[in-house]
Amino acid sequence: MTGAVIQGFDFGIAEQPHFFGGVAQPKFPLSDHLAWCDECTRANESVLFHHRAIQHDGTHANQNGIFNRAGVDDGLVADGDIAANPGGKAAALGVWAIVTDVYHRAILDIGAVANTDEIDIATHHRERPDGHIVPQHHVTDHGTHRIHENTLAKRGGNCAIRSNVHALDSSPRTTTLPRMENFIDTQPSELAPTLQRLRSNWQASKPDYAQRMDDLGRLRHALRLRMDEMAEAVGKDFSHRAKAETRIADGMTVLNDIDHLRKHLRKWMRPTRVGVGWRFLPARAQVRPMPLGVVGVIAPWNYPVNLALIPLATALAAGNHVYLKPSEHTPHTARFLRSLLAEAIAPGRVAVATGGADIGAAFAGLPFDHLVFTGSTAVGRKVMAAAAAHLTPLTLELGGKSPALIAEDYPIEHAAARIATGKWFNCGQTCIAPDYVLVPKGKRDALVKALRDEAVTRYGENLTNLDDYTRIINAGQYNRLKGYLDDAKSRGIERVTLAGHADPAQRLLPPTLLLDPSDDALIMQEEIFGPLLPIKSYRSLDEAIAYINAHDRPLALYPFSHNRATVEKILHGTLAGGVSVNDTLFHFAIGNLPFGGVGPSGMGAYHGRAGFDAMSKQLPVFWQARRSGGDLLKPPYSKAKWLIDLIVR
Ligand code: NAD
Repeated sequence: MTGAVIQGFDFGIAEQPHFFGGVAQPKFPLSDHLAWCDECTRANESVLFHHRAIQHDGTHANQNGIFNRAGVDDGLVADGDIAANPGGKAAALGVWAIVTDVYHRAILDIGAVANTDEIDIATHHRERPDGHIVPQHHVTDHGTHRIHENTLAKRGGNCAIRSNVHALDSSPRTTTLPRMENFIDTQPSELAPTLQRLRSNWQASKPDYAQRMDDLGRLRHALRLRMDEMAEAVGKDFSHRAKAETRIADGMTVLNDIDHLRKHLRKWMRPTRVGVGWRFLPARAQVRPMPLGVVGVIAPWNYPVNLALIPLATALAAGNHVYLKPSEHTPHTARFLRSLLAEAIAPGRVAVATGGADIGAAFAGLPFDHLVFTGSTAVGRKVMAAAAAHLTPLTLELGGKSPALIAEDYPIEHAAARIATGKWFNCGQTCIAPDYVLVPKGKRDALVKALRDEAVTRYGENLTNLDDYTRIINAGQYNRLKGYLDDAKSRGIERVTLAGHADPAQRLLPPTLLLDPSDDALIMQEEIFGPLLPIKSYRSLDEAIAYINAHDRPLALYPFSHNRATVEKILHGTLAGGVSVNDTLFHFAIGNLPFGGVGPSGMGAYHGRAGFDAMSKQLPVFWQARRSGGDLLKPPYSKAKWLIDLIVR
């Protein structure tokens, strides 16, 4: 972009010191670089402020256009990247609508809106709404060549908004604005410098045990305190997500994993002494888990907190810094994650990039020390290709069709109850949801009845318990699922709606069974990722196992049998990413179990120790002794013949 800076806006947050009279007053020069202000030191606090000036060609033609060209949606604006840093060093910055108040470990929220001729910015102190911070800012511009400065602040807090181009005008106004509802995607040009910053911070100060425990503890604490806010953000992204499901799947799972990491971290970090074998005595050897550097995390939309924070927490536990890219389909959650991380973790150690596939592709091409990708198999292939450029080590957590296999001996009602949970939790939008069920031929109709009973008990005959039934994330996904039903209809496949009916306006898709679909039906070709459940009858266990093996290795497998030999036969005869016997989903939640796919359903694993190891370099260290037989192994070898004869046997 060319042209002069014709308007920039800065907003300064000043915290009044505890003692009366020492009002801190940051002054931020307008410039296109980081402005550092430490004039708040009397409050024992510094605020690092970064603004991006808005540039245009100087004609003032159209402010919307200016915003748009600056990459700013005109329905919003808080075009500031802000972070506070207690030590006075540069902090890693993203486009944040949040200021961390380091001194009080609290959060200042900033809401901002813009219309064609004014920008309003309001802040409030979330933890102490009546406290002594809370300045309000109002900026008008720009066509009028004026900037209003508003020093209205409760109890003497001070703020300043300035322009170096236009005249400064003071005109107190109050504005009460909603918090920003949207935020700006990361620009591709920001990615590499952010990674570089994370890496140099890491190099300068690699997190030790105390630091890692502290980070994990603060992340846990912040998430627990903000659980309702998290559920609200996720709910907005889904338009409706059963709150209990969010608390369990995006809350409990993360807390559980962090607890597990914290409990075992000291032990995992210890070097493991290993024997050298008699030929190399009296040397010693050990394996030392070393942090790798910066781990990239790309997350999908279906459990947008869980699948962002568990890899992130694991990477932090292993002593790395983390660069996270949440899904573009969950912008509210992405904003929540950004603010949560800003609150919990010093900004130099984590960063968040936002954006869609283009940013994802550029992100995957960064030279990370490790990259954890969770998403579809198709995108996983692209990620692997992008990572190949730097030989970036990968953990690929992908999808696929995960079968439930009910054996002859297992009570159908019990199987139906547990399959119903696995399938309709999050409306089937779960990577390890049972994708289809294999059931003995004579029991198919009993299973249909039992599943109907489950659906009606859970959601009501007419899907009246809508609160507990999650919606399909977006119209694209809804139409994809609807396409499977239309395709099944055109093929004459029997479809059984278990409760209620579809409502595209709400993206409400009821639990629906498809009975014995042919293999060429779309629903049997692709991962379903929704509340539709094909039931396939089989005549013998061997036939069922052969069916599973004729398809891609699944991410999860759910054998249902109380007969140990039957379970062993299924486990022996197949290979899946993970297994829950006589239930669904649960293997994901167990901290001691590595989680990951196999073949097209993924590569590598994480959770607990497996994740810690994957995101560490297992450094082999050999310690030679003062005296070593190795010193004798040199020409002329005739002198060491006796030793060579001894070891070569
Ligand atoms: P997706 O693959 O479309 O997107 C995942 C992430 O990748 C998003 O953040 C997206 O922006 C990013 N992305 C898109 N194009 C990219 C590219 N070219 N390079 C790099 N990143 C890119 O997946 P989704 O629709 O968000 O999630 C659903 C899929 O994820 C399903 O297949 C599901 O099975 C799978 N999944 C797997 C797990 C697991 O743990 N194995 C968990 C949840 C979801």
